[in-house]
Amino acid sequence: MRVSGRLDLDDHDPGATFGWEKELAKEQLAGEVAELAELQRVLFAEARRSVLVVLQAMDAGGKDGVLREVLVGLNPAGVRVTPFGVPAEQDLARDFLWRIHQHVPADGTIGVFNRSHYEDVLVVRVKELAPPAVWRKRFAHIRNFEQLLVDEGTTIVKLFLNVSNEEQRERLQDRVDSPEERWKFRLGDLDDRQLWPEYRKAYRDTMVRTSTADAPWYVVPGDRKWVRNLAVARILRHTLAIMDPQLPPPAESLDGVVVR
Ligand code: AMP
Ligand code: MG
Repeated sequence: MRVSGRLDLDDHDPGATFGWEKELAKEQLAGEVAELAELQRVLFAEARRSVLVVLQAMDAGGKDGVLREVLVGLNPAGVRVTPFGVPAEQDLARDFLWRIHQHVPADGTIGVFNRSHYEDVLVVRVKELAPPAVWRKRFAHIRNFEQLLVDEGTTIVKLFLNVSNEEQRERLQDRVDSPEERWKFRLGDLDDRQLWPEYRKAYRDTMVRTSTADAPWYVVPGDRKWVRNLAVARILRHTLAIMDPQLPPPAESLDGVVVR
């Protein structure tokens, strides 16, 4: 699942189950989320390092589902979700990282980007919103930007939720058909769907060029929500476990202090 230098997206089955069982996976998800919440509690208390989770996917790929179903167990005081939609005028008037940088997580917190600076080498490339001479240089800018964050105490995890073309079709159709979900649907989603092969190629290139030891990409199977949720929870729990946050010592000795 972790991308390392080479990548053929065809090797990653969006319907993979890793031999997991659905009912058990739901229980395991609850366990992973509980452990994640405990690690987050200590990360927050430690207040010296942060975590940045980058969520990328095609439309209906499950980004909102991950927020609702995996990150739901965390303490909202220590999590900030930032969605990145179409850039505003003041964003376009500056370098592409300007609007991103101000939302990186503070020490002790987990920041989640729902879309991210990666759109500037994905949609921008596929829809030709900037010339190749501009977006090509961005891979190096992104690597350097992420290395800066890592060097200053942020652990970065990048997740590509990999849905199949057919699953996306069904989910988009469900959105059209369901009064509850119709608000999520834009006709523009169909234009993006027409560009599926171009997006796949752009995603592949992007992950190969920007998956580093310090800021890896993970390809998460997206067609089965229960697999996706458990996989994401495990990646995040594992990442925080490796960070091994510690409760800070008291600032001054509290021996014998009695609260009256
Ligand atoms: P959603 O995530 O469904 O709210 O949609 C957000 C939209 O914003 C998507 O269609 C993205 O392609 C678009 N978007 C995000 N970042 C950029 C960017 N840097 N340039 C152009 N479009 C973007
Ligand atoms: Mg959308």
